[in-house]
Amino acid sequence: MAVWVSALLALMIGGRALAAPLADERVASPAVEVTRVGLGYGSAYLVRGDAGVVLVDAGLRGSAGRILRTARRAGIEPEDIDLIVATHVHKDHAGGVAEVARRTGAQVAVQADGEALFAQGLGAPVIPQTPWGHLVALVGRNHRLPAVQATVVVEEQLDLAPWGISGLVLATPGHTACSQSLVVPGQFAVVGDLVVGPRGGAPNLQQLPDQVVPSIRAVLEHEPAELWLGHGGRVPADRVSRWVRGP
Ligand SMILES: [Zn+2]
Repeated sequence: MAVWVSALLALMIGGRALAAPLADERVASPAVEVTRVGLGYGSAYLVRGDAGVVLVDAGLRGSAGRILRTARRAGIEPEDIDLIVATHVHKDHAGGVAEVARRTGAQVAVQADGEALFAQGLGAPVIPQTPWGHLVALVGRNHRLPAVQATVVVEEQLDLAPWGISGLVLATPGHTACSQSLVVPGQFAVVGDLVVGPRGGAPNLQQLPDQVVPSIRAVLEHEPAELWLGHGGRVPADRVSRWVRGP
């Protein structure tokens, strides 16, 4: 698939109102330091704890150089990246994981539901729920991505204490069955495509539609101030909780 088609696909997943591509951004929080890697069509996130660096998502195939350059500018050398968390096995999030893992020696964490798909280089199913979702499904028929044998298979939750991060990786199925989010309670949650668009709406693609809202609620239970999206920027958790919890 041509790069522009992939970028268009990712943009559509992010929502038609997605603003201009986001720049890299370094954020200091009391708990951890986070650097967002702006990939144009989406974002990856470098989360630095007291005992290691976790990369959340790695963009399309070919994104490793971009990610590692941004990491260097943030004072993170390739060998400092210990763990790559793929929020889900779609090629615009997990396509670059194999190369980043090869260049850093990092472990790769995937939900148990996604392990076999990832090992075969197959993307998770693309199931549209909106007109935009149907267009995305049409454009993105080719689901293949570089295969990765995950070294950390997450059963529901993974405690990030070994990396010096007071947080966890949490199963958040809905967009795909294998979706997961990195949550630092009271601070932020990196949610992949569980929530999309600049206003923090429901995903256009939902493999498990019944699981979307319960998964968002599970994230919100950890009281993050913001949700950080795979496509789009930072959305206040209050805005998302209003439509999830209702009046
Ligand atoms: Zn996706």
